[in-house]
Amino acid sequence: MKKIALLGATGSIGTNTIDVVQAYPERFKIISLTFHRNEQKGREVIKKLHPQFVGVGSLALKNQLEKEFPEIRFGFGEEGLVEAATLADVDIVLTAVTGSVGLMPTMAAIRRKKDIALANKETLVMAGQWVMAAAKEHQVKILPVDSEHSAIFQCLEGQPVGNVKELVITASGGSFRDLTREELKTVTLEQALKHPNWSMGKKITIDSSTMMNKGLEVIEAHWLFDVEYDKIKVVLHKDSVVHSMIVLQDGAYLAQLGASDMREPIQYALTYPERLAIKNEKEFDLTQIGQLHFDKMDFQRFPMLALAFSVGKKGGAYPTVYNAANEIAANAFIEGKIPYLAIEALVEKAVNEYEETTEVTFEEVIKVDKETRKNVESWIKKEGNI
Ligand code: NDP
Ligand code: MG
Repeated sequence: MKKIALLGATGSIGTNTIDVVQAYPERFKIISLTFHRNEQKGREVIKKLHPQFVGVGSLALKNQLEKEFPEIRFGFGEEGLVEAATLADVDIVLTAVTGSVGLMPTMAAIRRKKDIALANKETLVMAGQWVMAAAKEHQVKILPVDSEHSAIFQCLEGQPVGNVKELVITASGGSFRDLTREELKTVTLEQALKHPNWSMGKKITIDSSTMMNKGLEVIEAHWLFDVEYDKIKVVLHKDSVVHSMIVLQDGAYLAQLGASDMREPIQYALTYPERLAIKNEKEFDLTQIGQLHFDKMDFQRFPMLALAFSVGKKGGAYPTVYNAANEIAANAFIEGKIPYLAIEALVEKAVNEYEETTEVTFEEVIKVDKETRKNVESWIKKEGNI
């Protein structure tokens, strides 16, 4: 029986994880979970899973839920997340919160020798160097949940490091893949939230449309697989059938294909190296799909992807700035405070204004993250847009 801490139980990945877990009650049990402010779904999840511990977003919500569920222990805020992730009996932590709030509980769990099933890519972008070093020190596995990274992880299995020439990450292109930059000036939130192939949380859907998500994934891949940026390629693959590939020294390509169903990579992260059937599997028939398409990524059309390689190569806290600025900007767009193209402009401004002269420590990276958020928030307040 694998005992799981599920951070972000009310979200899209959280819901898919609960599906996987409930399909195999004899194999998995979620013993702790967190959610932020979706009370209704949070209550449903608590009733369904009967966890020992629940972390929530506020003290008021914690107090309220304690009355309703006296048999369960509750916590709130960062401490609640950390406690859920480090409960003594937890074997593996599935990090499915959005944004950099995932960092502290992930680090705390690694230090307590819990394996990590990582959906929360922002954690690795913000502080990949320190997260991976801690995982190595405490001999903890970081198992990718992101579909591209799960695909690469599967292709890399059994390959001596020297065999691998390149990683090829596929990109669906997001909701605006067929629009010109001119056409982007007037797009709405509603349009941005219509992803052609995947159903996901709001922030990652916006990130997919700006190609920020692919940028974050490039940096995530760099840290997860210890591969230089020059050996990470991105191709546009509108079909979302090939989840990603690796290229070997002799030119052979290995790819992982499958339905657009996040339960597959989630389940593999939980059962690795074993494989189990997916209950109520989505139909996947290559003869129905018929053709696959691959196109060059246009770095001018998607400047956030070009910027990811640039901040990634600079290292230090540059990726931290890139991620923090985007978190604020993407959420401001979701809240209707800025127009769509201001997301890119704000991320570019934050990265351009940041200057690093000496090597940064983990503590400094956290400071940079906070400062960037403050800066971007103040730019939004001052100008509405930029
Ligand atoms: P959702 O927005 O659907 O869910 C986010 C979850 O995090 C919810 O449970 C939410 O709680 C919680 N949460 C939000 N803000 C906070 C906060 N400040 N503190 C604590 N908890 C918080 O996101 P997704 O499930 O789509 O994505 C989660 C992560 O997985 C992201 O990092 C994303 O990039 C990654 N990912 C997602 C994929 C997908 O298919 N969705 C694919 C690959 C990666 P509440 O709802 O109660 O407020
Ligand atoms: Mg992905």
